[in-house]
Amino acid sequence: QCVVRCPTGALTERDDTEKVLEALYDPEKLVFASFAPSVRVAIGEPFGMEPGEVVVGKLVSALRRLGFDRVYDVNFGADLTIVEEANELISRIKNGGVLPMATSCCPGWVNFVEKFHPEFIPNLSSCKSPQAMLGALVKSYMKEIEGISEEKIIHVTIMPCTAKKYEALRPELSGDTDYVLTTRELARLLKRFDIDLSKLPEDEADKPFGEYTGAATIFGVTGGVMEAALRTAVDWLSGGTFDKLEFTAVRGMEDLKFAEVDVNGTIIRVAVAHTLSAAEKLLHMIKNGEVEIHFFEVMACPGGCVGGGGQPIPSTTEMIKRRSEGLYSDDEKRVLRKSHENPYIKAVYEKYLGAIGGEKAHHILHTTYRVVYDILCKLEKWDNLLGNTPQ
Ligand code: SF4
Repeated sequence: QCVVRCPTGALTERDDTEKVLEALYDPEKLVFASFAPSVRVAIGEPFGMEPGEVVVGKLVSALRRLGFDRVYDVNFGADLTIVEEANELISRIKNGGVLPMATSCCPGWVNFVEKFHPEFIPNLSSCKSPQAMLGALVKSYMKEIEGISEEKIIHVTIMPCTAKKYEALRPELSGDTDYVLTTRELARLLKRFDIDLSKLPEDEADKPFGEYTGAATIFGVTGGVMEAALRTAVDWLSGGTFDKLEFTAVRGMEDLKFAEVDVNGTIIRVAVAHTLSAAEKLLHMIKNGEVEIHFFEVMACPGGCVGGGGQPIPSTTEMIKRRSEGLYSDDEKRVLRKSHENPYIKAVYEKYLGAIGGEKAHHILHTTYRVVYDILCKLEKWDNLLGNTPQ
């Protein structure tokens, strides 16, 4: 069965806008919105703003005007992903686990492995994506800490990505995210209600799931997940004695990048690929023993999520570059730039999740993978997604 990704979104998208509106009008429901790292540097474009302009505060205002009860930030989920993923990497290195470990936050890449390279499934990090981690945490936390039943909550994410719609339907992640709107769909919805994003005042996302570090925000650009993970992993491996923050060797638009970090004598070798043809090349090199690495990141779209199939059109190379620069400037401006230093992450572990990588965290924040045919057979609405899911 041929499954193609449509980077321009020209093929029909599964659009859940009407279902989101139904939920917003339902007085029995509490409807939460969370938006992805790369949405903040692209959603301004349909409203005449420049690509790369960071519009977090205006976006929060806009979502509140649409009627969302709470507005959270998928960047919190990205910080959570890094904390769990860095812990998993260190554990695999120290305990002889499967290496190289691969990132698992891009559903286009996960699909690709499950469908074409199932031999690499054990390499995938068991961490859920930031979208799924945040969704699972929000619902279980609300139930246990605030006494709100999971059925009452509708969690809507705003993503740069049509493949995230598929991810939300995976049986393993069922219920974590109720509806996914792309950046384009949200822009259309705002225009339908005459909400001009560019003219809105700034507002703040709700706590505790609205706070993020610089490491989280660069998730939206190729190399960003790797850089974020290195910031935490080397900090922990070195006992806090390693003061390097920016890993520029993993930045940039080259389709395949390699780097190594010497952490007090322990060498960590990494690779970063964007686009699935680059991923194919990298897997080939790993299989043939041409490279020896501990960890690699793959993002299916050119440039990473800044160039995702759900972003505003046009989405030229120049615009992707400017969106990337926007995320790096957001990172530089954050007071805290390492995921494990996010005080709300620390508080959520202390108050609710317990130990990083512990039993409860594992239950809520980790997942499993399988060959994609199995998933295809179980998804009822797969036909709606054909043509939008990355290879
Ligand atoms: Fe989605 Fe593309 Fe980002 Fe992967 S790289 S999560 S397919 S937008």
